[in-house]
Amino acid sequence: MSVNTSRVQVQFWGTRGSLARPGRNTVRYGGNTSCVQVMLAEARGPLRGSILFSHTHWDHIQGFPFFAPLFVPGGHWDIYGPAGLSQSLRDTLAGQMEHIYFPVTLNELGASILFHDLVEGSFEIDDIHITTRYLNHPALTLGYRLEMGSACVVYACDHEPHSRLPGQRAQMHELDRRHSEFLAGADLVIHDAQFTDKEYANHKGWGHSPVEYVSEIGQLAGVKRMAFSHHDPGRTDDALDEIVESIRSDLKEKESPMHVFAAADGQVIELDISSATTRKIRRGKFSTTPATAPAVKDSSVLMGVSDAGLALVLTEAARVEGVRTTHALDAASTVRMAKSARPGLILLEDEPAGIDGLSVCRSLRSEQDLHLKQVPVVMVADRERTTEGMAAGVTQWLITPFSVQYARAQIQAWLWRSACRWIRAALPADEEKRLAALRGLSILDTQSEERFDRITRVAAAVGDVPIALVSLVDHDRQWFKSCHGLGVTETSRELSFCGHVVLTRAPVIVPDTLLDDRFADNPLVTGEPRVRFYAGFPIFYTDGSCLGTLCLIDTRPRQFPAATLQRFEDLASLVQQELNSSPQQTAA
Ligand SMILES: [Zn+2]
Ligand SMILES: [Zn+2]
Repeated sequence: MSVNTSRVQVQFWGTRGSLARPGRNTVRYGGNTSCVQVMLAEARGPLRGSILFSHTHWDHIQGFPFFAPLFVPGGHWDIYGPAGLSQSLRDTLAGQMEHIYFPVTLNELGASILFHDLVEGSFEIDDIHITTRYLNHPALTLGYRLEMGSACVVYACDHEPHSRLPGQRAQMHELDRRHSEFLAGADLVIHDAQFTDKEYANHKGWGHSPVEYVSEIGQLAGVKRMAFSHHDPGRTDDALDEIVESIRSDLKEKESPMHVFAAADGQVIELDISSATTRKIRRGKFSTTPATAPAVKDSSVLMGVSDAGLALVLTEAARVEGVRTTHALDAASTVRMAKSARPGLILLEDEPAGIDGLSVCRSLRSEQDLHLKQVPVVMVADRERTTEGMAAGVTQWLITPFSVQYARAQIQAWLWRSACRWIRAALPADEEKRLAALRGLSILDTQSEERFDRITRVAAAVGDVPIALVSLVDHDRQWFKSCHGLGVTETSRELSFCGHVVLTRAPVIVPDTLLDDRFADNPLVTGEPRVRFYAGFPIFYTDGSCLGTLCLIDTRPRQFPAATLQRFEDLASLVQQELNSSPQQTAA
């Protein structure tokens, strides 16, 4: 594939969710299960290509053995999907091609196939920049954001809201807001829209979205075209027409420019990828295909539950291979055990007479420890208190009564996602003031300057490290005023180590990233440039705002004596001095 062409074609091969549904009532939108092809005009031909799997539920993989190009000798296919399943993506796909199911096994296919197990991060296929995000589904599921030239297409099936108050965009769960950022500004989003709000009320936890939510989140994200997909198998063509009509009239009322439609089998959408306003793509050595070991290897669930019956059911549900369960009977010991055991998931009862889960959650979220700020907390209750839950930092609700199988699927999905995640730095309290100070310097996106470059050069020499950077932490990126030993000038803030320095306003020294659960799964660690050692020293503006760091990076674990660390701090002071005397400085 090459982006030297001006158009990209998106073709829907299947738009039905959960199971195939041929029949006279599904003729127009089609009955095939989910499959979308993205093709650039000058494609590589029928022999080469890449297949991206969102997850391995059957409605998303059953067409795979029948994909004819795989049988052609000489062909080559790259296959991508979420890592961290109990078995590899390859083994899962090979399973449905064993001889009892299928005449040709995976090993016997004519084409050569390369498997890539993914976590959250970004990578490139030729000129297409791809970002992955976990979706909320009872299987480990990735959404894909494809940026090609000036065009952007997002595929987000299967997914459901983390928490939902219909029509109340102002009150959105933090993780739903994060999901909307993933869709931001896309030309085309293909989104799970299996239910309506009314149907969703009885299908929470099934992992599928109500169409009204998809419309709201699309508007928030400034999406241009929204394709409702993964249609409910019971939905007739006429019913789909009605749903689209009602969403369109709602959008018209709100004067939203977003165009929505129900995706149909065989439909082709063309996008222009060569417009003058070329999308800013973050690319370079940082982008990679990280590989990880199976995620649920040493994970634990902490239950804060006083009710013996509920504890019994939850213990049974958490009986997942390789997962330990610990149990606290009161609020104080729940908090204490959360701090010491560092669980991958916390289940809390919402019972004022027993453990008041919301107040336990609030106190965990207020801890300095970033792990406790970000570990998923599932509230077990007989009804969802959405607003209070969002304020307290609840990740999701598990509503009683539930079946053990259902709870187990949810617990497993949360453990997978949290085990494959690195810990992002929270925003500092003075974030707005800090950004204003940084912008006031008018230094972002300026040319490199010798007065900074000589400092990173010296820092790299003093530490004998390959990489030294002057990194300024902007709203959603860290931008490098000086980069010694690195070919990129910015990376996303999500991946940022320096964000942790900005948050703590103190040096952050990580002798070995693989031993530090804040960073071990960070794509910059698991993939290029394979950061093993990091040391970041804060740089302050005259008003005390922390703007960024002087940081040093090595690809091997390192330990430095205090005297050397002091020298790095001295160099950071020099950077600070230069920055605060910048000729561009306009801030008062
Ligand atoms: Zn599905
Ligand atoms: Zn699914």
